[in-house]
Amino acid sequence: MNDEAALILIVEDEPKLAALLADYLKAAGYRTEICADGREVEARVRQLAPALLLLDLMLPGKDGLDVCRVLRRFSEVPIVMVTARIEEIDRLLGLELGADDYICKPFSPREVVARVRAILRRSRAGTTAAAADSPLRSALQIDEARYSAEFRGQPLALTPVEFRLLKTLADAPGRVFSRDQLLDRLYTDHRIVTDRTVDSHIKNLRRKLDAASPEQELIRSIYGVGYKLDW
Ligand code: CA
Repeated sequence: MNDEAALILIVEDEPKLAALLADYLKAAGYRTEICADGREVEARVRQLAPALLLLDLMLPGKDGLDVCRVLRRFSEVPIVMVTARIEEIDRLLGLELGADDYICKPFSPREVVARVRAILRRSRAGTTAAAADSPLRSALQIDEARYSAEFRGQPLALTPVEFRLLKTLADAPGRVFSRDQLLDRLYTDHRIVTDRTVDSHIKNLRRKLDAASPEQELIRSIYGVGYKLDW
């Protein structure tokens, strides 16, 4: 933790849920503020400069989508979008709102705290020279000019599609990509491929990463949504 506890702004119009999240986050050592109206979020972010936002999608006044768009015009604050419908996440991902993570209701407050912690750790790593403090990050070497990659010193024999897949995920650690988004990045010629294609490339890529380091799962499946790579 930094000298001062990080401030989490909870944007949630259900008072009980907001209070529950605040309790768990405080127990984990964070400071919290609650905002229940979408129209007030921008002013609160400018005033409080929170370290992270938990942003409910369905809000009175202004919904979470609009709030996210407005914030991204002036702020890089990490945003965790909270929605009541898992099917909604795929659509949200497609909108490329710039949210950093998505959580589906009902959630376990412990899971929320774990995600908040992971994102803050990552965003601190990104803003300091200590980015190499993740052993996994330094274990994966990607050489774009040569289209080659090594994991823990072992060269990975990747196909061009697997290479692009790995590079896409590794360039945005922690970000969840839907299968559609991955397809867009894997094939530039708009050939007809299915979601299954992504799954089979992921499977092959995982097998090759596993061969280099069996104890560490680098690529995670997010049920019903897609994939992400975690350090
Ligand atoms: Ca709500």
